[in-house]
Amino acid sequence: MKSQLRQDISLLIFSLLVLLIIGVIIGKPFLLVCIGLTAYIVWTFYNLNRLTKWLTKQGKHVPETYGIWDDIYYQLYQIYQRQRKAKRKLAAIVSRFQESTQALPYATIVLNRQMEIEWFNNAAENMFDLIRVTDIGQRLDNLIRIPGFINYLTRRDFKEDLEFDYGGRNIRLTITPYGNHQYLLGAHDITQRRKLEVMRQDFTANASHELRTPLTVVAGYIEALQENADEKLKIPLQRIHEQTERMESMLNDLIALSRLETQALPEKEELIDVPALMQQIVKDMTAFDRGQHNIEINCQPVKLLGSREELHIVLVNLMTNAIRYSPSSGQVTLSNTVDERGMCIAVEDQGMGIPADQIPRLTERFYRVDPGRSRDQGGTGLGLAIVKHILDRHRARLEITSVPGKGSVFRCCFPARQIAEVDASPESIN
Ligand code: ADP
Repeated sequence: MKSQLRQDISLLIFSLLVLLIIGVIIGKPFLLVCIGLTAYIVWTFYNLNRLTKWLTKQGKHVPETYGIWDDIYYQLYQIYQRQRKAKRKLAAIVSRFQESTQALPYATIVLNRQMEIEWFNNAAENMFDLIRVTDIGQRLDNLIRIPGFINYLTRRDFKEDLEFDYGGRNIRLTITPYGNHQYLLGAHDITQRRKLEVMRQDFTANASHELRTPLTVVAGYIEALQENADEKLKIPLQRIHEQTERMESMLNDLIALSRLETQALPEKEELIDVPALMQQIVKDMTAFDRGQHNIEINCQPVKLLGSREELHIVLVNLMTNAIRYSPSSGQVTLSNTVDERGMCIAVEDQGMGIPADQIPRLTERFYRVDPGRSRDQGGTGLGLAIVKHILDRHRARLEITSVPGKGSVFRCCFPARQIAEVDASPESIN
């Protein structure tokens, strides 16, 4: 392009020189140079005009021209071709993406930063009764008028999924932010799964209740038999009595679990005085332990929003385990810490500990690290499942750290929003 420009300038200078010489010969050099320059300007404007027209039409063929204009057309044409190719490629990618998301069984909606619909697939159309021509560009919360959903969208905190009922179906929804403040909403119908879950919960609850009555009768008869039993029957009857007691505690735990699964936390949570509850628990556990362990307490004054009864169950379960799985004279400590992230209540023991690979499974129902020891100690294998369930209901998490042979720490961490009030006095109650 540079050499072409040089050639054009040389040609212009040469033409002007020729005109100047002719002008000198005929006695009008200035007039001829002016005519030459005017002709050049007219030619330039003519080409600029042609170029503008060509650019607006984005013509396929390059018009025939000369000199530097030929080069300009050629370069622009190359850029234009490259853009067309990139556009075609992009369009193919977009249509492939739309085809694949159209085929997804999950409802998929693309939202912009104002939560307005940009695109949705057929599954979304069916699930939320969306209409392509009218609903594109509409705010999603204007179309799905469910309070829980509107709050979820307004909060813009999409770390957790949302489950809600819509049009007689249970829906689980995930929103993933991407790109420049765009959101990808995915939703699927979990009605069937919910039904199965409810059936399972009902079955467990009903079976436990049904088993409780005959078991109470059996236990009653055994107690009566024990009173008048002759010597050789005393030991077998004692064993039967122990086993019926074990079955009773298992049924009680199963009933407690299904109650936790089916009943929601009361809307208005109570204000729990945590140190008072911890002191009460330590008092009860000291009586239960009959002085075998050294039970310590270290608590910070704080009030927590939640269910006192359920928090009591959590701490009793953790303290019972700490006592059960530690040798006598070991130390068991119940403590709490408060900071800007919330409050953690910890139960620490110096017992047998738990191998690291078993820790993730501890909250599964009936999972025991050492089944023999658990049974000997009267464990049901359901304690930690209950603890986990209650903590989930309180938006809290269970953290377990343990060193085999050294001891374990079970920490229940409640988020700051569950803390109602922290007493200004920094002293701890020991
Ligand atoms: P269990 O009634 O058997 O104690 P849990 O659900 O309370 O049932 O606990 C599950 C298992 O976790 C127990 O069987 C035991 O093996 C292990 N475990 C719980 N707490 C402790 C602890 N403090 N130290 C060591 N092992 C523990």
